[in-house]
Amino acid sequence: MKTHNFSAGPCILPGQVFEEASKALLDFDNLGLSVIEISHRSKNFVAVMEEAVALVKELLNVPDTHEVIFLQGGASLQFAMVAYNYLTETGKAQYLDTGAWASKALKEAKGLGTAEAIASSKEANYNFIPKGYSIDPSADYFHCTSNNTIYGTQMKSFPETDVPVICDMSSDIFSRPVDVSKFDLIYAGAQKNLGPAGATLVIVRKDSLGKSGRYIPTMLKYTTHIEKESMFNTPPVFSVYVSMLTLRWLKEMGGVEAIAARNQAKADLLYGEIDRNPLFVGTAATEDRSNMNACFLLNDEAHKEAFDALWKEAKINGINGHRSVGGYRASMYNAMDLDSVQALVDCMKELEKQYA
Ligand SMILES: *Cc1c(COP(=O)(O)O)cnc(C)c1O
Repeated sequence: MKTHNFSAGPCILPGQVFEEASKALLDFDNLGLSVIEISHRSKNFVAVMEEAVALVKELLNVPDTHEVIFLQGGASLQFAMVAYNYLTETGKAQYLDTGAWASKALKEAKGLGTAEAIASSKEANYNFIPKGYSIDPSADYFHCTSNNTIYGTQMKSFPETDVPVICDMSSDIFSRPVDVSKFDLIYAGAQKNLGPAGATLVIVRKDSLGKSGRYIPTMLKYTTHIEKESMFNTPPVFSVYVSMLTLRWLKEMGGVEAIAARNQAKADLLYGEIDRNPLFVGTAATEDRSNMNACFLLNDEAHKEAFDALWKEAKINGINGHRSVGGYRASMYNAMDLDSVQALVDCMKELEKQYA
């Protein structure tokens, strides 16, 4: 019986990716060597990096104005890198405060200069995406978080502005089409929808760089990594390799449009049950619900023991909610099949049969 992995991150990846990656750990490209013991400058690994970059460009229709690089330090290091590379000494940055990750990003910018939240849903424990704010046209950049992994909210559209838009897409990149040309910089830690932890994907508009006017430590400067094609220093070879395999899988699946339709079907199935079943309630505002992370509560805590026993019996993993929201969080990233969501829905229906 298969384990249904709803973990928020690190998270599920396609089974065929795990199989191929495990073979490459023992013997890569018939070299008699592991993919993690060859030089990152060998032609075999350079080909992996090039294919990963090419697949990102193809799958997201990245325009020629933008570069694709793989870095380290997770999305969390991007919080600081963004500020170093875009925030001027006298200018200011504007952030949309939609959750813990967004506010951590803002904190790093405040550490370097002037930065502010232009709107926040903190008072409502981040259960919705603020709307109707206006971005100061003189701001150095506007920063937002497309999907709020912890609270289960997702931006369904992005503001139209002439200010550079920078977006943390860690938990929904490659889950739906996105118009890359509208963003000056997109970043995503790999471990939510792309690959194992260790690599961070950055897509950046070249001509937006070089304007902060401050000294930027070499490793924190995007141009360092663009000029060296993500090989300034040793890249996280295994994470990049597995990410490349996941991107190949995504292309085989029909690309981002096809996966978006699949993700919509999974989200519809689960939210449909949350709304129908009298024992459960969703925590996020309906119009802002995330197709990646669905957060919900039991209406009566007295049913917790019975429900937990049901999903454990069904071999469901990783649905305990984040401590700041409580209840349950079902993460349904690209690699998750509809039948795993159905298994969870079946547990919810079974609970209803027993108690409603
Ligand atoms: C997980 C997550 C992060 C943090 O990523 P790390 O790679 O662990 O630094 C940042 N932003 C979002 C939206 C996330 O989901």
